[in-house]
Amino acid sequence: MAQTLIEQHGLFGCVQCGRCVAGCPISIRTALNTRKLIYQSLLESKKRVQSPDIWCCTTCKTCSDRCPKGVEIMEYIVALRRYQVERGKIEPTARNALESILKHGNPWERAREKRTEWITDDLDVRILEEGESTDVLLFVGCTPAYDPEAQKSARALAKLLNKAGVDFAILGTAESCCGNEVERMGEEGLFEMLVEENTELFSKYKFNRIVTISPHCYNTFKNEYTALDFEIIHYTQLLQELIESGALKFDGKIGENVIFHDPCFLGKQNAVFDPPRFVLQSALENELLEFDRNRERSQCCEGGGGRMWIEVESDIERTAEERVKDAEYFGAEIIATSCPFCMLTLSDAVKTTGLEDKLRVIDISEILIIDY
Ligand code: SF4
Ligand code: SF4
Repeated sequence: MAQTLIEQHGLFGCVQCGRCVAGCPISIRTALNTRKLIYQSLLESKKRVQSPDIWCCTTCKTCSDRCPKGVEIMEYIVALRRYQVERGKIEPTARNALESILKHGNPWERAREKRTEWITDDLDVRILEEGESTDVLLFVGCTPAYDPEAQKSARALAKLLNKAGVDFAILGTAESCCGNEVERMGEEGLFEMLVEENTELFSKYKFNRIVTISPHCYNTFKNEYTALDFEIIHYTQLLQELIESGALKFDGKIGENVIFHDPCFLGKQNAVFDPPRFVLQSALENELLEFDRNRERSQCCEGGGGRMWIEVESDIERTAEERVKDAEYFGAEIIATSCPFCMLTLSDAVKTTGLEDKLRVIDISEILIIDY
Protein backbone atom coordinates (compact mmCIF):
# COMPACT_ATOMS: atom_id res chain seq x y z
CA MET A 1 0.00 0.00 0.00
CA ALA A 2 1.26 3.51 -0.84
CA GLN A 3 2.64 5.43 2.11
CA THR A 4 0.68 8.46 3.28
CA LEU A 5 2.47 11.81 3.56
CA ILE A 6 2.31 11.38 7.32
CA GLU A 7 4.21 8.08 7.14
CA GLN A 8 6.54 9.30 4.41
CA HIS A 9 7.72 12.27 6.47
CA GLY A 10 7.80 10.49 9.84
CA LEU A 11 5.02 12.49 11.53
CA PHE A 12 4.08 9.55 13.78
CA GLY A 13 7.43 10.08 15.53
CA CYS A 14 6.45 13.56 16.72
CA VAL A 15 6.48 13.93 20.52
CA GLN A 16 5.05 17.48 20.42
CA CYS A 17 8.16 18.92 22.09
CA GLY A 18 7.89 22.18 20.14
CA ARG A 19 11.58 22.47 19.22
CA CYS A 20 10.60 22.95 15.60
CA VAL A 21 8.34 25.90 16.28
CA ALA A 22 10.82 27.40 18.73
CA GLY A 23 13.44 27.45 15.97
CA CYS A 24 11.13 28.64 13.21
CA PRO A 25 12.10 32.20 12.22
CA ILE A 26 8.64 33.15 11.09
CA SER A 27 6.42 31.48 13.71
CA ILE A 28 6.62 34.64 15.79
CA ARG A 29 5.30 36.88 13.02
CA THR A 30 2.83 34.56 11.30
CA ALA A 31 0.27 31.94 12.24
CA LEU A 32 2.47 29.07 11.04
CA ASN A 33 3.00 26.72 13.96
CA THR A 34 4.67 23.48 12.90
CA ARG A 35 3.92 21.62 16.16
CA LYS A 36 0.21 22.38 15.79
CA LEU A 37 0.28 21.60 12.08
CA ILE A 38 1.65 18.16 12.85
CA TYR A 39 -0.83 17.56 15.67
CA GLN A 40 -3.71 18.57 13.42
CA SER A 41 -2.36 16.39 10.59
CA LEU A 42 -2.22 13.38 12.91
CA LEU A 43 -5.75 14.00 14.18
CA GLU A 44 -7.05 14.24 10.64
CA SER A 45 -4.71 11.63 9.25
CA LYS A 46 -7.07 10.48 6.53
CA LYS A 47 -7.28 14.02 5.09
CA ARG A 48 -4.63 16.40 3.86
CA VAL A 49 -4.52 19.35 6.22
CA GLN A 50 -4.95 22.49 4.15
CA SER A 51 -3.62 25.32 6.25
CA PRO A 52 -3.06 28.63 4.38
CA ASP A 53 -0.14 29.24 6.78
CA ILE A 54 2.07 26.76 4.93
CA TRP A 55 2.72 29.55 2.39
CA CYS A 56 4.52 31.59 5.09
CA CYS A 57 7.31 28.98 5.27
CA THR A 58 10.66 30.04 3.83
CA THR A 59 11.90 26.40 3.59
CA CYS A 60 14.92 27.37 5.69
CA LYS A 61 14.83 23.81 7.14
CA THR A 62 15.56 24.85 10.72
CA CYS A 63 12.55 22.85 11.92
CA SER A 64 13.64 19.56 10.29
CA ASP A 65 17.21 20.06 11.50
CA ARG A 66 16.16 20.70 15.08
CA CYS A 67 13.60 17.92 15.41
CA PRO A 68 14.95 15.27 17.81
CA LYS A 69 12.71 12.61 16.25
CA GLY A 70 13.75 13.10 12.63
CA VAL A 71 10.36 14.38 11.47
CA GLU A 72 10.74 15.90 7.98
CA ILE A 73 8.68 18.97 8.74
CA MET A 74 9.84 21.30 5.98
CA GLU A 75 9.55 18.49 3.44
CA TYR A 76 5.99 17.79 4.69
CA ILE A 77 5.08 21.47 4.24
CA VAL A 78 6.38 21.39 0.65
CA ALA A 79 4.32 18.23 0.04
CA LEU A 80 1.20 20.03 1.32
CA ARG A 81 1.99 22.92 -1.03
CA ARG A 82 2.19 20.47 -3.94
CA TYR A 83 -1.32 19.29 -3.16
CA GLN A 84 -2.59 22.90 -3.19
CA VAL A 85 -0.74 23.79 -6.39
CA GLU A 86 -2.24 20.74 -8.13
CA ARG A 87 -5.66 22.22 -7.29
CA GLY A 88 -4.71 25.72 -8.46
CA LYS A 89 -4.60 27.10 -4.90
CA ILE A 90 -1.61 29.41 -5.05
CA GLU A 91 -1.08 33.16 -4.61
CA PRO A 92 -1.42 35.04 -7.93
CA THR A 93 2.05 36.57 -7.46
CA ALA A 94 3.61 33.12 -7.05
CA ARG A 95 1.63 31.83 -10.02
CA ASN A 96 2.99 34.69 -12.14
CA ALA A 97 6.55 33.80 -11.14
CA LEU A 98 5.98 30.16 -12.10
CA GLU A 99 4.36 31.10 -15.42
CA SER A 100 7.26 33.43 -16.15
CA ILE A 101 9.71 30.57 -15.58
CA LEU A 102 7.75 28.42 -18.00
CA LYS A 103 7.61 31.17 -20.66
CA HIS A 104 10.87 33.07 -20.23
CA GLY A 105 13.11 30.79 -18.12
CA ASN A 106 13.14 33.26 -15.21
CA PRO A 107 10.69 34.21 -12.43
CA TRP A 108 11.04 37.97 -12.94
CA GLU A 109 8.81 38.24 -16.04
CA ARG A 110 11.76 39.41 -18.11
CA ALA A 111 12.59 38.48 -21.70
CA ARG A 112 15.10 35.69 -22.26
CA GLU A 113 17.06 37.92 -24.69
CA LYS A 114 17.82 40.32 -21.84
CA ARG A 115 19.50 37.67 -19.70
CA THR A 116 23.00 38.89 -20.59
CA GLU A 117 22.37 42.62 -20.14
CA TRP A 118 24.33 42.57 -16.87
CA ILE A 119 27.56 42.21 -18.89
CA THR A 120 29.15 45.64 -19.25
CA ASP A 121 31.83 46.56 -21.79
CA ASP A 122 34.64 46.50 -19.22
CA LEU A 123 34.13 42.75 -18.61
CA ASP A 124 35.61 39.84 -20.49
CA VAL A 125 32.80 37.27 -20.32
CA ARG A 126 32.70 34.50 -22.91
CA ILE A 127 29.37 33.02 -23.92
CA LEU A 128 29.82 29.33 -24.54
CA GLU A 129 28.56 27.90 -27.84
CA GLU A 130 27.38 24.30 -28.14
CA GLY A 131 30.31 21.89 -28.36
CA GLU A 132 32.80 24.44 -26.95
CA SER A 133 34.74 23.86 -23.76
CA THR A 134 35.77 25.81 -20.67
CA ASP A 135 37.12 24.96 -17.25
CA VAL A 136 34.44 26.75 -15.20
CA LEU A 137 30.85 27.16 -16.30
CA LEU A 138 29.57 30.16 -14.36
CA PHE A 139 25.86 29.67 -13.74
CA VAL A 140 24.72 33.27 -13.27
CA GLY A 141 21.16 32.55 -12.07
CA CYS A 142 17.98 34.56 -12.68
CA THR A 143 18.33 37.21 -9.97
CA PRO A 144 21.98 38.22 -10.64
CA ALA A 145 21.16 38.23 -14.37
CA TYR A 146 18.19 40.59 -14.15
CA ASP A 147 17.97 42.47 -10.86
CA PRO A 148 19.96 45.75 -10.99
CA GLU A 149 21.24 45.36 -7.42
CA ALA A 150 22.15 41.70 -7.77
CA GLN A 151 23.76 42.31 -11.19
CA LYS A 152 26.55 44.12 -9.34
CA SER A 153 27.59 40.85 -7.71
CA ALA A 154 27.75 39.07 -11.09
CA ARG A 155 29.89 41.88 -12.50
CA ALA A 156 32.19 41.90 -9.48
CA LEU A 157 32.66 38.13 -9.66
CA ALA A 158 33.43 38.29 -13.40
CA LYS A 159 36.08 40.96 -12.64
CA LEU A 160 37.66 38.73 -10.00
CA LEU A 161 37.70 35.72 -12.34
CA ASN A 162 39.23 37.87 -15.11
CA LYS A 163 41.88 39.07 -12.68
CA ALA A 164 42.69 35.54 -11.52
CA GLY A 165 42.96 34.33 -15.12
CA VAL A 166 40.23 31.71 -14.69
CA ASP A 167 39.05 30.03 -17.89
CA PHE A 168 35.32 30.57 -17.45
CA ALA A 169 32.25 31.08 -19.60
CA ILE A 170 28.47 31.44 -19.23
CA LEU A 171 25.56 30.02 -21.17
CA GLY A 172 24.14 33.46 -22.01
CA THR A 173 20.51 33.47 -23.12
CA ALA A 174 20.50 29.65 -23.20
CA GLU A 175 20.66 29.62 -19.38
CA SER A 176 17.32 28.95 -17.62
CA CYS A 177 16.04 28.98 -14.06
CA CYS A 178 17.48 26.18 -11.90
CA GLY A 179 14.08 25.51 -10.30
CA ASN A 180 15.10 25.52 -6.63
CA GLU A 181 12.23 27.83 -5.69
CA VAL A 182 9.85 26.06 -8.09
CA GLU A 183 10.32 22.82 -6.19
CA ARG A 184 9.78 24.54 -2.88
CA MET A 185 6.65 26.30 -4.11
CA GLY A 186 5.24 22.84 -4.80
CA GLU A 187 5.23 22.97 -8.63
CA GLU A 188 6.68 19.52 -9.05
CA GLY A 189 5.82 19.10 -12.74
CA LEU A 190 7.61 22.31 -13.72
CA PHE A 191 10.58 21.42 -11.52
CA GLU A 192 10.94 18.01 -13.17
CA MET A 193 10.77 19.67 -16.57
CA LEU A 194 13.54 22.13 -15.62
CA VAL A 195 15.75 19.34 -14.29
CA GLU A 196 15.36 17.43 -17.53
CA GLU A 197 15.91 20.46 -19.77
CA ASN A 198 18.87 21.84 -17.82
CA THR A 199 20.54 18.43 -17.63
CA GLU A 200 20.16 18.09 -21.40
CA LEU A 201 21.45 21.66 -21.89
CA PHE A 202 24.59 21.07 -19.80
CA SER A 203 25.37 17.93 -21.82
CA LYS A 204 25.87 20.08 -24.96
CA TYR A 205 28.98 21.78 -23.55
CA LYS A 206 32.32 20.63 -22.18
CA PHE A 207 33.38 21.94 -18.79
CA ASN A 208 34.89 20.65 -15.57
CA ARG A 209 32.63 22.27 -13.01
CA ILE A 210 29.74 24.60 -12.44
CA VAL A 211 30.13 27.59 -10.18
CA THR A 212 26.93 29.24 -8.99
CA ILE A 213 26.41 32.75 -7.64
CA SER A 214 23.25 31.83 -5.76
CA PRO A 215 23.22 29.25 -2.96
CA HIS A 216 19.73 28.30 -4.21
CA CYS A 217 21.10 27.18 -7.61
CA TYR A 218 23.99 25.48 -5.81
CA ASN A 219 21.62 23.58 -3.54
CA THR A 220 19.38 22.19 -6.24
CA PHE A 221 22.16 21.27 -8.69
CA LYS A 222 24.12 19.58 -5.93
CA ASN A 223 21.33 17.75 -4.16
CA GLU A 224 18.41 17.41 -6.55
CA TYR A 225 19.84 17.06 -10.08
CA THR A 226 20.77 13.41 -9.72
CA ALA A 227 22.16 12.90 -13.25
CA LEU A 228 24.91 15.56 -13.14
CA ASP A 229 28.38 14.06 -12.97
CA PHE A 230 30.59 17.13 -12.62
CA GLU A 231 31.62 19.19 -9.62
CA ILE A 232 29.22 21.89 -8.40
CA ILE A 233 30.55 24.62 -6.15
CA HIS A 234 29.47 27.99 -4.81
CA TYR A 235 31.46 31.02 -5.90
CA THR A 236 32.85 31.57 -2.39
CA GLN A 237 34.44 28.12 -2.58
CA LEU A 238 36.09 29.01 -5.89
CA LEU A 239 37.35 32.33 -4.47
CA GLN A 240 38.86 30.52 -1.49
CA GLU A 241 40.68 28.19 -3.87
CA LEU A 242 41.97 31.12 -5.94
CA ILE A 243 43.26 32.92 -2.84
CA GLU A 244 44.92 29.77 -1.51
CA SER A 245 46.65 29.11 -4.85
CA GLY A 246 47.86 32.72 -5.02
CA ALA A 247 45.84 33.51 -8.17
CA LEU A 248 44.02 36.21 -6.19
CA LYS A 249 45.69 38.36 -3.58
CA PHE A 250 44.16 40.85 -1.18
CA ASP A 251 46.17 42.99 1.14
CA GLY A 252 43.71 43.21 4.04
CA LYS A 253 43.25 46.94 3.65
CA ILE A 254 39.46 47.26 3.75
CA GLY A 255 38.97 49.12 7.00
CA GLU A 256 35.19 48.99 7.48
CA ASN A 257 33.62 46.69 10.05
CA VAL A 258 32.02 43.81 8.19
CA ILE A 259 29.62 41.16 9.49
CA PHE A 260 28.72 38.01 7.53
CA HIS A 261 25.15 36.77 7.17
CA ASP A 262 24.99 32.99 6.49
CA PRO A 263 22.40 32.22 3.79
CA CYS A 264 20.19 29.23 4.76
CA PHE A 265 20.77 27.40 1.47
CA LEU A 266 24.55 27.69 1.77
CA GLY A 267 25.10 27.27 5.51
CA LYS A 268 22.28 25.44 7.24
CA GLN A 269 21.37 23.29 4.24
CA ASN A 270 24.82 22.58 2.77
CA ALA A 271 27.29 23.22 5.61
CA VAL A 272 29.34 25.75 3.61
CA PHE A 273 30.30 28.00 6.52
CA ASP A 274 34.03 28.63 6.24
CA PRO A 275 34.75 29.67 2.61
CA PRO A 276 32.81 32.98 2.80
CA ARG A 277 34.56 33.82 6.07
CA PHE A 278 38.02 32.91 4.76
CA VAL A 279 37.53 34.98 1.61
CA LEU A 280 36.23 38.03 3.48
CA GLN A 281 38.94 37.93 6.12
CA SER A 282 41.64 37.95 3.44
CA ALA A 283 40.54 41.43 2.39
CA LEU A 284 39.69 42.97 5.78
CA GLU A 285 41.87 44.94 8.12
CA ASN A 286 39.68 44.20 11.15
CA GLU A 287 38.45 40.84 12.35
CA LEU A 288 35.24 39.78 10.61
CA LEU A 289 32.29 40.37 12.92
CA GLU A 290 29.79 37.62 13.74
CA PHE A 291 26.12 37.67 14.61
CA ASP A 292 25.17 35.85 17.78
CA ARG A 293 22.89 33.75 15.62
CA ASN A 294 25.39 32.54 13.04
CA ARG A 295 26.39 29.41 11.11
CA GLU A 296 23.84 26.58 11.87
CA ARG A 297 21.82 29.01 14.00
CA SER A 298 21.78 31.79 11.42
CA GLN A 299 18.54 33.67 11.12
CA CYS A 300 16.65 33.27 7.85
CA CYS A 301 16.05 36.48 5.87
CA GLU A 302 12.62 35.26 4.59
CA GLY A 303 13.78 35.22 0.97
CA GLY A 304 13.58 31.47 0.28
CA GLY A 305 10.86 28.94 -0.46
CA GLY A 306 9.12 31.20 -2.97
CA ARG A 307 8.69 33.97 -0.40
CA MET A 308 10.26 36.47 -2.84
CA TRP A 309 6.85 36.26 -4.56
CA ILE A 310 4.56 35.72 -1.59
CA GLU A 311 3.86 38.67 0.69
CA VAL A 312 3.08 37.80 4.33
CA GLU A 313 1.10 40.34 6.32
CA SER A 314 2.17 40.81 9.95
CA ASP A 315 2.36 43.54 12.59
CA ILE A 316 5.67 42.12 13.75
CA GLU A 317 8.84 43.21 11.97
CA ARG A 318 10.38 41.07 9.25
CA THR A 319 13.26 38.82 10.23
CA ALA A 320 15.45 40.78 7.79
CA GLU A 321 14.64 43.96 9.77
CA GLU A 322 15.60 42.22 12.99
CA ARG A 323 18.78 41.01 11.28
CA VAL A 324 19.94 44.46 10.15
CA LYS A 325 19.25 45.88 13.61
CA ASP A 326 21.39 43.07 15.04
CA ALA A 327 24.15 43.96 12.56
CA GLU A 328 24.12 47.54 13.78
CA TYR A 329 24.14 46.35 17.40
CA PHE A 330 27.28 44.28 16.74
CA GLY A 331 29.02 47.32 15.28
CA ALA A 332 28.90 46.49 11.58
CA GLU A 333 29.07 49.06 8.80
CA ILE A 334 28.69 46.46 6.06
CA ILE A 335 26.59 43.28 6.01
CA ALA A 336 28.33 40.84 3.68
CA THR A 337 26.07 38.50 1.77
CA SER A 338 26.68 35.63 -0.62
CA CYS A 339 23.13 35.12 -1.87
CA PRO A 340 21.10 37.38 -4.17
CA PHE A 341 17.88 36.87 -2.18
CA CYS A 342 19.59 37.80 1.12
CA MET A 343 21.03 40.83 -0.69
CA LEU A 344 17.56 42.02 -1.71
CA THR A 345 15.72 41.29 1.56
CA LEU A 346 18.45 42.79 3.76
CA SER A 347 18.92 45.86 1.51
CA ASP A 348 15.19 46.50 1.72
CA ALA A 349 15.30 46.07 5.50
CA VAL A 350 18.11 48.63 5.80
CA LYS A 351 15.79 51.14 4.11
CA THR A 352 12.63 50.28 6.09
CA THR A 353 14.50 50.47 9.41
CA GLY A 354 16.05 53.83 8.52
CA LEU A 355 19.60 52.49 8.86
CA GLU A 356 20.74 53.65 5.41
CA ASP A 357 23.25 56.13 6.84
CA LYS A 358 24.88 53.51 9.03
CA LEU A 359 24.76 50.21 7.15
CA ARG A 360 25.31 48.90 3.63
CA VAL A 361 24.52 45.42 2.34
CA ILE A 362 27.16 44.21 -0.11
CA ASP A 363 27.88 40.91 -1.81
CA ILE A 364 31.27 39.34 -1.00
CA SER A 365 32.55 39.73 -4.58
CA GLU A 366 31.72 43.43 -4.52
CA ILE A 367 33.48 43.87 -1.19
CA LEU A 368 36.59 42.26 -2.65
CA ILE A 369 36.73 44.73 -5.54
CA ILE A 370 36.28 47.81 -3.31
CA ASP A 371 40.01 48.46 -3.54
CA TYR A 372 40.44 47.48 -7.20
S1 SF4 B 1 10.54 19.17 16.91
FE1 SF4 B 1 9.87 17.20 16.00
S2 SF4 B 1 9.07 16.04 17.74
FE2 SF4 B 1 9.20 18.18 18.42
S3 SF4 B 1 7.14 19.05 17.95
FE3 SF4 B 1 8.41 19.47 16.19
S4 SF4 B 1 8.05 17.72 14.80
FE4 SF4 B 1 7.32 17.11 16.81
S1 SF4 C 1 11.40 25.51 7.08
FE1 SF4 C 1 11.94 27.29 8.32
S2 SF4 C 1 10.26 28.75 7.98
FE2 SF4 C 1 9.53 26.74 7.26
S3 SF4 C 1 8.46 25.91 9.04
FE3 SF4 C 1 10.56 25.13 9.08
S4 SF4 C 1 11.66 26.57 10.42
FE4 SF4 C 1 9.72 27.57 9.81
